[in-house]
Amino acid sequence: MTVRVRFAPSPTGLLHIGNVRTALVTWLFARNQSGHFLLRLDDTDTERSEEAYANAIQEDLTWLGLEWDELARQSERTARYDAAIADLKQSGRLYPCYETPEELSLKRKSALQQGKPPIYDRSALNLDDIEKARLEEEGRRPHWRFLLTHKPIEWDDLVRGPVRFNGADMSDPVLIRADGRPLYHISSVVDDIGFGISHVVRGEDHVANTAAHIQMIEALGGTPPAFAHLPLLADAAGKGLSKRLGSLSIVDLRDNGGIEPMALISLLGRLGTSDPIEPFDHIQPLIDGFDFAKFARATPKFDPAELDRLNARILHGLSFDAAWPRLAALGFDQIDEAFWLAVRPNLNLMVDVGHWWAIARGPIERHRDDPDFLDTAADLLPEDPWGPETWKTWTDRVKQETGAKGKALFLPLRRALTGQDHGPELAALLPLMGRDRTVRRLTGAPPKGQG
Ligand code: GLU
Repeated sequence: MTVRVRFAPSPTGLLHIGNVRTALVTWLFARNQSGHFLLRLDDTDTERSEEAYANAIQEDLTWLGLEWDELARQSERTARYDAAIADLKQSGRLYPCYETPEELSLKRKSALQQGKPPIYDRSALNLDDIEKARLEEEGRRPHWRFLLTHKPIEWDDLVRGPVRFNGADMSDPVLIRADGRPLYHISSVVDDIGFGISHVVRGEDHVANTAAHIQMIEALGGTPPAFAHLPLLADAAGKGLSKRLGSLSIVDLRDNGGIEPMALISLLGRLGTSDPIEPFDHIQPLIDGFDFAKFARATPKFDPAELDRLNARILHGLSFDAAWPRLAALGFDQIDEAFWLAVRPNLNLMVDVGHWWAIARGPIERHRDDPDFLDTAADLLPEDPWGPETWKTWTDRVKQETGAKGKALFLPLRRALTGQDHGPELAALLPLMGRDRTVRRLTGAPPKGQG
């Protein structure tokens, strides 16, 4: 069997941590199985869907490296939904209901007061044609419900294991609103059948929908796919994601947070699985190791601090070739490999490169705590050309001449040269700063140009 999966965001907002995790897990499964990954834009809600969000979703997935094999828009497939609706009406599985939202809410309340579950009582099924005509004359327009069969609904969930519902415990779901617009359930089910989806991967907030979808798929003559429902993410304290964390968008993380795509992939690809979370600079090992059997039912905890740590570890090992496109995009296109290798152990975020670039090129805050020592050091600087050995040659000379060693030798030099007490290896930074700038910083001569 060919694996065919879909990721089905509604373009009514930006992708956030939770739905990107669903996208990634679905994608990893598809690639692991040499399957087909469909990006389906659930854009039937024309009031809330926006083209800008549809574009942003595609940009985010591209940035993460999650390319899709096919793109579909539900707004272009309405004829199929109409045909399925006609089918279900014909077979008596869709029935018109005339209750207003207020009437439904009263029914729910009174059921709860009597200690009964708030299930729709199907009273619309008892309306005869005369009563329906009278309600329509009053100006009421029907919404339409799917008639569930009152029998057990079971499936073996790839994450949750055996799941069992009973149609008798569920409200008949509304498939068409009073304004005539079909709802998510019908379009989703029609497309899952039409695209031959073999596995539906989505959040556990859809588990009850799945029970109804299975009956709808059967009523439409389809075969239900396999299902994998992922537990929803919680925060580090184990509570449901706060509004702030839950709505943390990929755009926020990328543009404001400076997070590397592989940091996000490394974290979200392993969160809630039995595999350890580690920094990956490539997605292939995550594809190779993917298995739904590794996913736990427990709520995985999303900790932004863990994302930051992974990000730093990925940067510390990133080759210049891999870093280059990101550096160029941030406007640091003058940076060369030597500079990158010198500063990468000091980065938490890629943008921190700018901090060390400014220090190498200036201007910096001037520190001359011991001017005589620094003047002597300046006189002892080796002649050009400078290379990786220059720092050692020079500091050996200064040590011999002044008797200073250890911290007393290195700290005043570091402070004079960088304006900071800590930072990248000076052996690597020194040749990048160049002899003229080094002399000026040691002797306190005024900066030329930038530094
Ligand atoms: N558009 C739906 C959502 O974002 C899709 C759910 C599904 O995967 O069926 O919740």
